[in-house]
Amino acid sequence: MESLFKPQNSIIQRFKSYNGLEIEIDIRREDLLHAAVSGNKLRKLKYNLLEAQKLNLHTILTYGGAFSNHIAATAAAGNVLGLKTIGIIRGQELGDDFVKTLSNNATLELAHKNGMQFHFVSREAYREKDSTAFQEELKLKFGLFYNIPEGGTNLLAVKGTEEILTEGDTTNYDIVCVAAGTGGTAAGIINSTAPQQKVIVFSALKGGFMRADIEKYTWRSDFEVVDETAFGGYAKSDDRLIDYMNTRFRESVTIKNPRGIPLEPIYTAKMMYGIEQMVERAVIKGKTRILAVHTGGLQSIAGYNKMLSKKRRIKLSYENQF
Ligand SMILES: *Cc1c(COP(=O)(O)O)cnc(C)c1O
Repeated sequence: MESLFKPQNSIIQRFKSYNGLEIEIDIRREDLLHAAVSGNKLRKLKYNLLEAQKLNLHTILTYGGAFSNHIAATAAAGNVLGLKTIGIIRGQELGDDFVKTLSNNATLELAHKNGMQFHFVSREAYREKDSTAFQEELKLKFGLFYNIPEGGTNLLAVKGTEEILTEGDTTNYDIVCVAAGTGGTAAGIINSTAPQQKVIVFSALKGGFMRADIEKYTWRSDFEVVDETAFGGYAKSDDRLIDYMNTRFRESVTIKNPRGIPLEPIYTAKMMYGIEQMVERAVIKGKTRILAVHTGGLQSIAGYNKMLSKKRRIKLSYENQF
């Protein structure tokens, strides 16, 4: 189990510096932590998998949509550790033609290759997944399992995300930025920053509920939340964002860093775009050292490109290059 959680720390790279403004943006490459299990999802799984081991449970059951990074990461971790994994997937119709579903969906295909067993449920049933009735059904069907919530966020997950920042990060940076879906990663980041540091959370969703979700797992309230309104909401984008991603990737490939800094469109690209907007609009000004956390999730690019193709939009140029 140990090897999955080594190394403890990811590397930091320069993302952008502004000549004359004394503003620097660095990026902590959590996406490079492990070859098979990406970024913050590995951090969130760590103490949950150790707990499952302690309880002598060899089956991990969790929930997600058909493109979920958490589903992909749980399947990969299960494969590495020899644990059985079960994914409760939103969308009953996906189970109708399983072979076709896999050939159309890189996330599920990879999770399947990693040994995950799927249980496809209707959107209505999925909404009730935490109900006693649904949980009883799962127990009858699958027996004993260790239950991890959708998106992987619980107390043990936040304990894991508190290990993303190093002690150096608390003195080397004025602002720490992180993207949020459930807010579990942001809570861990907030808990591990120093009082004088500012945390900006870029929500991948709109609706204004993110602050309350994060506050379930942190005692601090001195953080800022930016809702995703620039691109229309969760997983939405326009050509401006895709163009931005292609440009930044091209610029990031150097002799020193031949693999560049790839971003994905749902979380990390919107965060980096948002940070740059704040600098350009002088919301962030004066000598400022910014650390952004690259939370991973690059497995979603293949599926995203497929969608862009179907809509005849410009695609991400680096699907197979990292
Ligand atoms: C899941 C995910 C997030 C959001 O993490 P939460 O802890 O759910 O807020 C951010 N970035 C990437 C790449 C993710 O896969």
